[in-house]
Amino acid sequence: MNDFVLNNGVALPKVGLGVYKFKPQHESALIWALQNGYRHIDTASFYHNEELIARAIQKSGIKRTDVFLTTKVWSSDLGKRTKQAFESSLRRLQTDYVDLYLIHWPAVHYMESWFTLERLYKEGKIRAIGVANFERKHLEDVLTQGSIVPAVNQIQTNPYYQQEDIHGFLAKHGIQHVAWGPFGQGNKQLFSDPVLTEIAQGHGKTTAQIMLRWSLQRDIAVIPKSINPSRLKQNLEVFDFHLSAEEMGRVAVLERNQKGFNDPSNKFMLW
Ligand code: NAD
Repeated sequence: MNDFVLNNGVALPKVGLGVYKFKPQHESALIWALQNGYRHIDTASFYHNEELIARAIQKSGIKRTDVFLTTKVWSSDLGKRTKQAFESSLRRLQTDYVDLYLIHWPAVHYMESWFTLERLYKEGKIRAIGVANFERKHLEDVLTQGSIVPAVNQIQTNPYYQQEDIHGFLAKHGIQHVAWGPFGQGNKQLFSDPVLTEIAQGHGKTTAQIMLRWSLQRDIAVIPKSINPSRLKQNLEVFDFHLSAEEMGRVAVLERNQKGFNDPSNKFMLW
């Protein structure tokens, strides 16, 4: 119930922990999260904290096989360097497989890297392969030239940037939509949005929980980030209430196409 099933049958926890900017001093928050129910950790080589994740999993006492671990290959490792980058991630994560490996950004040579991911997947070193920040044109390349349909596209998604077009495309192709920045990267306006606030009050929940629940009801997995135990707890407590169709509709009209700085349509980010 608390998982989405990916297109190859692998279960992805609906709520994960995003660990961008997690530093060694946040180790106790990570251990707390693991010991209190988080079973999906979303990291990346770019976050420079894969060793920290490995340590926290070990110290938490949670078995490696009970944690869904996502990591990503960064743009500077696309092309010929991808296999080596993957092996370095495995070494830092102190594991011999990852659950989900993503191309972090559609930078040059992403197709060459995709073929490497396909090989690693076929060798059994990755349970599911996918992409992040891919627009329709990048996905079309993968769908036409690749032999495996990506399991996931991880893209920025929140009530002010709903990604409705690409969401439909992903659903049509059986690619799981995962929302990064589900709170607009801590956007204060979102947390105090009057519509979200009113809906939250009606359910005795916080606006953060409404944002997460809204994503889940669109069949979108979420990876909110927090280092604060009470927020970590809150961000998992989104399975005991339901937004009505009317409430979902009220959130749908909050769309502002307000993408963050970190978006593939910012061309200079592509290189
Ligand atoms: P987010 O939208 O998850 O916002 C995080 C911020 O929201 C926190 O720093 C905290 O200030 C606040 N917050 C968290 N829980 C709260 C609560 N319950 N109440 C009030 N405030 C709360 O932003 P993010 O960290 O950028 O995104 C989440 C994760 O997505 C990242 O950690 C990372 O794993 C992933 N990510 C991926 C990409 C990509 O290119 N693939 C880009 C950015 C982030």
